[in-house]
Amino acid sequence: MLVSTNPGTGDEAGRVPVADESTVAEAVRRALDAWPWWASLGFDGRRHRLLRWRTLLAERVEELAAWTTAETGKPEAEALVEAAAGIEHLDWAARNARRVLGPRRTRSRLLLIEHAGHLEYQPYGVVGVIGPWNYPILTPLGPIAAALSAGNAVVLKPSEYTPAVGQWLVDTFAEVVPERPVLQAVHGLGDVGAALCRSGVGKVAFTGSTATAKKVMAACAETLTPVVIEAGGKDALVVDADADIDAAAEAAVWGSMTNAGQTCIGIERVYAVAPVYDRFVEAVVTKAGRLRLGEDIGPITMPGQVDVIRRHIDDALARGARAVLGGAEAVRPPGVAPTILLDVPEDSAAVREETFGPTLTITRVADADEAVARANATPYGLGGAVFGKAGAVRIARRMHAGMVAVNSTLTFVGMAALPFGGVGDSGFGRIHGADGLREFARAKAITVRRAPSLLPTMTFERTPAQIARLVKTIRFRYGRR
Ligand code: NDP
Repeated sequence: MLVSTNPGTGDEAGRVPVADESTVAEAVRRALDAWPWWASLGFDGRRHRLLRWRTLLAERVEELAAWTTAETGKPEAEALVEAAAGIEHLDWAARNARRVLGPRRTRSRLLLIEHAGHLEYQPYGVVGVIGPWNYPILTPLGPIAAALSAGNAVVLKPSEYTPAVGQWLVDTFAEVVPERPVLQAVHGLGDVGAALCRSGVGKVAFTGSTATAKKVMAACAETLTPVVIEAGGKDALVVDADADIDAAAEAAVWGSMTNAGQTCIGIERVYAVAPVYDRFVEAVVTKAGRLRLGEDIGPITMPGQVDVIRRHIDDALARGARAVLGGAEAVRPPGVAPTILLDVPEDSAAVREETFGPTLTITRVADADEAVARANATPYGLGGAVFGKAGAVRIARRMHAGMVAVNSTLTFVGMAALPFGGVGDSGFGRIHGADGLREFARAKAITVRRAPSLLPTMTFERTPAQIARLVKTIRFRYGRR
């Protein structure tokens, strides 16, 4: 059995059977049998069932949050916010799948006008979803909702730290879809995820660290299995001269400290322009100083992560940084108290590597251009944020990131119609929104002849005169300045 524990108390949280390679193969074989039935229900049949699942999750949201709190240690309010976002995405995917993926005609153009173009999006069959522990409801539910809405069956491999949450999702789905194993879970360590990559699934949706993402891609490369990669980040917040400083500080504290900083799109760095820097730092320290370890800030879920956070803080301080809140003594396993670091060298771990703790570096910059240049100077590119007025959206466009929030932090993850995903070391492909639905379906093009060809060129029976007419037509249509 795989036993998960509450990182705050050490108590047992969940207990699930561990899979091996043959269990994974068996789950994928069952899913291969199940998906044609699920696909045959059509968009409306799937929508009906997925909305019933959504209703069940909403009715039992406290139970779902309680499992999440038990396995991650996050405060109940944080688990409820996470669950609400997951339910929102499930509802959106179920309601919008037909509009985004339904069959449609394309417009014919002059050449080949005698053929009609048809486009439809067909499911991959079975999708493997591999999830992390930090948001065990939301991170798998995004790809699961899209993949199921598109007509796929799903085999989920939850993190070894949060298997019970994953199993709970699977069990509640089976209450509304008891007929076939359309959504299953396989549990275990990394080898179970690796087995899923090699099991013959049609696509893998991976959320986790960049280092593991590379292993997943290497395993998927053996069978040319396509992947969506949602990996880590080092997201920056830019505070411009015309920003509302109190609002920026409030959002910076939330964006960096929510879920004890264990958030892929968590704000880890701030670049504030000189005229507002001092006021901003003061406001952040005041607000973050009110947060209580054990109440607002839960424990660090993965014990080994405490060492990473300690190393980043110690290294920054050794290299001349100042802690204006927290610091070395803030590391009190199993938790870490809020820590605000100033004057951190740009090449230090605290600025370049994912810390994944309730820490924030704040750096003074001359202007927005310098802020953008520094924000963009990491290999990651997941999310980001800007506070300001006149130039804020222009700054957002220039940030090397898949998503940017203007005058808030992290908002894009909760907006069901927007795609979610990164660039660079943060991955590729998108979950959520219309792009997220298309990620789990293959575009299928079909042409249907509707009349004999006026200009038959795609045949060996064409004549030199017809080719000459083709050249004349092309010149007439496109060859004029
Ligand atoms: P990991 O990369 O350690 O693990 C992610 C998942 O992959 C787990 O289920 C893990 O299993 C599994 N796994 C481990 N090794 C392999 C392998 N060789 N083949 C296939 N699967 C494997 O990430 P964490 O769970 O520690 O999650 C934290 C990371 O996730 C952070 O970097 C964070 O930024 C990122 N993240 C990204 C998000 C995004 O949307 N971009 C959202 C949330 C988190 P096991 O747990 O058993 O090791």
